[in-house]
Amino acid sequence: MKNTISINPANGETIGTYPRITVTEAKETLVKVKKAFDSWKKTSFEERATLMKNLADILDADNEKLAQLATAEMGKTIGQARKEIEKCALVTRYYADHADSLLKDETVKTEASKSYVTFQPMGTVLAVMPWNFPFYQVIRFAAPALMAGNVGVLKHASNVQGCAFAIEEAFIKAGFPKGIFTNFNINAENVKDIIEDQTIVAVTLTGSEPAGRSVAAIAGQNLKKTVLELGGSDAYIILDDADLEAATDLATFGRLQNNGQTCIAAKRFVVLESIYDAFLALYTTKMKAAKMGEPTDETTYYGPLARVNLRDDLHKQVEKSISQGARLVLGGTIPEGKGAYYPATILAEVTPGMEAFDNELFGPVASVIKAKDENHAIALANNSVFGLGSGVITSNTERGEKIALQLEAGNSFVNKLVVSDPRMPFGGIKNSGFGRELSGYGIREFVNIKTIWIE
Ligand code: NAP
Repeated sequence: MKNTISINPANGETIGTYPRITVTEAKETLVKVKKAFDSWKKTSFEERATLMKNLADILDADNEKLAQLATAEMGKTIGQARKEIEKCALVTRYYADHADSLLKDETVKTEASKSYVTFQPMGTVLAVMPWNFPFYQVIRFAAPALMAGNVGVLKHASNVQGCAFAIEEAFIKAGFPKGIFTNFNINAENVKDIIEDQTIVAVTLTGSEPAGRSVAAIAGQNLKKTVLELGGSDAYIILDDADLEAATDLATFGRLQNNGQTCIAAKRFVVLESIYDAFLALYTTKMKAAKMGEPTDETTYYGPLARVNLRDDLHKQVEKSISQGARLVLGGTIPEGKGAYYPATILAEVTPGMEAFDNELFGPVASVIKAKDENHAIALANNSVFGLGSGVITSNTERGEKIALQLEAGNSFVNKLVVSDPRMPFGGIKNSGFGRELSGYGIREFVNIKTIWIE
């Protein structure tokens, strides 16, 4: 059991050390957490909503402090970090306002004198979370789960424990009783022991495919409900009638936002042959112009990757893709100096079977793919083990909608980058996971959907 160390990926400096807890300590806490649940489940939506709104106010009031922490721990630009905290407050308020109606009893007409469906809390839910949106991913799980009357235990990524403890502190400051939301700074290997604990009723994991497979296998073995939000290799089809200025703006931000480390980032650009060269030329100009730099500098477009080892792994994927025949158009070299920086990179003529086509590239590397026609573009977009987000760029929205309906993904957007919105469900198919977060679908993942029948 080692302490976790937070390292600023912009300069390699140590910025925090956080004590790990042992499995024994975690299990002792789980007993107390279960007791907290026994009281929490009896609270009204109104009582829960009051605390949730307090939390939203705290997130707003502490926006700058929390944003600076996220930027320091994982390198996102300060402007995007502020927006992340704003979005946390939005989701928190959304569930404070709507949990009651989303979980309202549903009367069903049957032969019974009275029959209805009711939604009851399940208990302690374990959330295993990634570093890329260190606040938002956690709130996206916690706001609905807690409003439904559950309690949450967080195993956050090891490199963002400062954010993890800041979230726990915000819950306490908002007035949530102890045990309703608890951060466990444990090793990934110990997640198994936590899932096996009899107080844990369900697990949600947002992270990579390997982590998802491992956690889902353990949860399955223990018959515990699971939601998985995993990686993606989102394809955006650029049709021949697309406005190239708008398409390349979207492709630039889509690939570089959050320093290229977003599950729903635009990763593969499937471009129709007739506009391929024009798209590539304009896209290269814009990607080249995007400023890489210190993430606290307000003029920076994208900062470093979250860790040096992640940057080095990404570079290996780029080199592999080139050795498989992809054409390097921009970037592709590790810059000298401190930090986990990697430049905006474009790989062109990417085809199925190449690393950049088949796997997720979690950084500022765009794969540009040539399609003979519309049907070929749809087939290429769907030729993926992943199915998280996808998009179509066109000046004909009817044509775009028809294609969106054929894309194998949990989210398909026309003329807009996929974003999560509390009013709409969010999640993936295929190796991008299963289950949904947000909206009424998300809050019903961790409830007992219970039938009541009065003869
Ligand atoms: P990761 O390496 O899978 O880590 C995610 C979390 O899982 C961390 O808390 C990690 O702990 C833990 N973990 C890793 N291996 C584990 C195992 N075998 N058993 C139990 N826990 C384990 O992913 P990441 O690098 O943090 O995040 C990037 C990935 O997340 C990308 O693939 C991205 O697409 C995906 N993602 C998906 C969504 C979505 O909504 N679908 C959203 C954001 C990110 P340690 O840090 O201690 O290793």
